[in-house]
Amino acid sequence: MDCLFCKIVKKDIPAKIVFENDKVLAFEDLTPQAPVHILVIPKKHIATSLDISREDNSLIGELYQAANAIAKEKGVAEKGFRLVMNCNREAGQTVFHIHLHLLAGRAMNWPPG
Ligand code: 5GP
Ligand code: ZN
Repeated sequence: MDCLFCKIVKKDIPAKIVFENDKVLAFEDLTPQAPVHILVIPKKHIATSLDISREDNSLIGELYQAANAIAKEKGVAEKGFRLVMNCNREAGQTVFHIHLHLLAGRAMNWPPG
C-alpha cells in the first residue's frame, strides 16, 4: 500500500520521532504550523476518521493518551494545546492515514480557518 505514514511507521522514510509504543507513533510535522506541531498516528493503517471501526475504539484512546503524554513532556499541557483530526478534503486532509495534529506553543484562533 502506498501510504506515506505507513512508510514512516516502517522507518522506510525518516521522521523526527518523539514517541513510540507498540500501537502508536508520534513525530514532528514536516511543515510546522506552531512552535509545537506533532503528528500522533496509529501504526495500523486507517484512512480517515470515517474508517475507524468499533474494534479500533481502544486504539483511538491510545492516540489521546500518547498526545497527553507528549503535551506534558513538551511542557505545554498547562498552558494549552489543540488536537485536530481533519477528515477528507474539504477539512484539509492530505495524508489518508489518520493522525492527530498536536499544536501548541502559541495562542490558537477560534474558529479555525
Ligand atoms: P493533513 O493535511 O492530512 O491533516 O495533515 C498532514 C500533515 O502531514 C501536514 O501537516 C504535513 O505538513 C505533514 N506531512 C506531509 N508529509 C510529511 C512527511 O513526509 N513527513 C512529516 N513529518 N510530515 C509530513
Ligand atoms: Zn497508512
